Amino acid sequence: MIKKVGDTVIKPKHRASCHCGAVVLELDLPNGIVDPRHCDCSLCRRKGAVMASVPLSGIKIVQGENVLRLYQFNTLTAKHYFCSVCGIYTHHQRRSNPEQYGYNVGCLEGVNPFLIDNVPTNDGVNHPADRNDS
Ligand SMILES: [Zn+2]
Repeated sequence: MIKKVGDTVIKPKHRASCHCGAVVLELDLPNGIVDPRHCDCSLCRRKGAVMASVPLSGIKIVQGENVLRLYQFNTLTAKHYFCSVCGIYTHHQRRSNPEQYGYNVGCLEGVNPFLIDNVPTNDGVNHPADRNDS
């Protein structure tokens, strides 16, 4: 877990927003940024975000629920949300653990995800739940 990125201290309730500001989330991050990683599945390799985990109860949509769009593919298990105005991915409900959201660390206020060292990459190509379509 990561409690500080550069000069930014991660607050127990930390705000996150898309680029245009239409979507604002409040994340419960009592343990800071948990398990930041990349994924190389067919979607994540295109978006390239650093993602971290919260339980489903850990994201509250403060504003912009009406502009969030849902994208699903393949098994239609995971739910990928993005801002329909600026296109930025904000969070997704996981396929590997539907009790969790992954979220875009780059959306956290004041956080530059590129200051986090040694972010590992999930083997999303060979996802255990996957059929042969990555
Ligand atoms: Zn936006």
